[in-house]
Amino acid sequence: MSREQQAVARARKAFETGRSKPLEHRIHQLNNLQRLFTERQKEISDAIKKDLNKSEVGTQLYETLGLEGEISLAIRKLKEWAAPRPVEKNLLTLSDTVYIQPEPLGVVLIIGAWNYPWAVTIQPLIGAIAAGNAAVVKPSEVCVHTAKVMEDLLPLYIDKELYPVVTGGVPETQQLLQQRFDHIFYTGNSMVGKVIMEAAAKHLTPVTLELGGKSPCYIDKDCDISIACRRVAWGKYTNCGQTCIAPDYVLCDPGVQDRVIEEVKKSIQEFYTENPKICPDYGRIINQRHFRRIMAMLEDSAVAVGGENDESDCYIAPTVLRDVKPDSKVMQEEIFGPLLPILPVSGLDEAIRFINKREKPLALYVFSADDKVIKRMRDETSSGGLLANDCLVHYSVSSLPFGGVGNSGMGCYHGKHSFDQLSHLRSCLIKKLNMEGVNSMRYPPHTPKKLGWARFFILKTMDLGWLGRMALLAVLAVVAAAVLQKYLQ
Ligand code: NAD
Repeated sequence: MSREQQAVARARKAFETGRSKPLEHRIHQLNNLQRLFTERQKEISDAIKKDLNKSEVGTQLYETLGLEGEISLAIRKLKEWAAPRPVEKNLLTLSDTVYIQPEPLGVVLIIGAWNYPWAVTIQPLIGAIAAGNAAVVKPSEVCVHTAKVMEDLLPLYIDKELYPVVTGGVPETQQLLQQRFDHIFYTGNSMVGKVIMEAAAKHLTPVTLELGGKSPCYIDKDCDISIACRRVAWGKYTNCGQTCIAPDYVLCDPGVQDRVIEEVKKSIQEFYTENPKICPDYGRIINQRHFRRIMAMLEDSAVAVGGENDESDCYIAPTVLRDVKPDSKVMQEEIFGPLLPILPVSGLDEAIRFINKREKPLALYVFSADDKVIKRMRDETSSGGLLANDCLVHYSVSSLPFGGVGNSGMGCYHGKHSFDQLSHLRSCLIKKLNMEGVNSMRYPPHTPKKLGWARFFILKTMDLGWLGRMALLAVLAVVAAAVLQKYLQ
């Protein structure tokens, strides 16, 4: 048996013992995970510094703080999330107990990406633990140092049989994908997303695909360009542009392009100084393969700001490109680097047409002082999330489902959404063995009279309002059994 097979088999066996299910166990594991983040911050930051040149404060701000918040939310709310959820009943089930009971799915495979290696790998794990599953965790091999720290630390804090870490690259992931899982939670690019879904299909395993793509950003000419550009610059250059929801490109009126460039430039200097290369808050491209990929995108566009680079250090300065054409290289795929192309468009109509001609994005940004512009952008386009007058922050709202649509992914998570995503929401209807008269209308012999009653019970009560329905239900409940008994026997 390979290492990957062993890990999955052990996780399955541990799940079958039932020990992942009691709420006390889940809370205990989540508390331990919380402790990891308070006790091991230094190891975590040191590794991320080596991988992506993130500062210690930046690591807490963008990686672990959100995780700590998600863990404490799950601990606080778990009892409520895991409880039976009563649902509205119809007249025929009035005396029954009808509810949704969340139950664990089984063994979940979590495949993480490298750009926010803790956030995108551990956040699904929080959901998996909270929902009572076992989970095999596969961090991205691209963030070499972080993968090692995760492999070393997780087993020291949480149940290592239920939640094993399997490290490795494509061959190891392929090995894992041949095993049977009850859910696969993948974060990464859309190409590999298809590979994951194909492998999952062999076992009819459901998937969550947290993918990426080009997230557009429309800046209306009538908004506060200075504030808008400050927020766009933050969204773009954080983590050197290697953020799945970074604004990929800007659409704006040709008349404001120069101001946009000027204002983004000002913000770059404010955030990262005149020399971002020595600024501790400015990151690096993850490796030389990605460095070359990003640099190749610059070939046929005009640099308005930045452009400096150093391959030996994986450094690319915060860069703005002007008058970018839709068919230029930088517009052919997700940039995932610190290049901000600006594409002049004649106005909102053209921006909407431009966005709708392309794949549905993970995030869509609109900057405008006019609510009508924001509303039109919302109503006439589609994307995983829509954010007006800011960037990235919707990610931090646990009550908002985070995920893509179409090419940017399927399924969602964060907060209770993670719990639900990794649970089976089981429909439960618990009847008593009395009141058999009520059931007579469904038993053969089928007659028009029985159909008439069935129509009444199923359709008529729908037309009343909530209060009317409740009142009618109460009255009918009392007489239903007796009446049915009399007329249907
Ligand atoms: P990556 O290279 O780390 O790959 C992701 C995972 O897939 C890794 O664990 C890797 O081992 C595995 N993998 C790679 N190739 C594989 C193959 N052929 N078969 C099986 N497994 C394979 O990360 P990446 O794809 O470069 O990540 C960047 C992408 O992820 C971007 O498109 C970004 O937008 C997206 N992303 C999305 C989110 C989100 O929450 N939606 C978050 C972060 C990143």
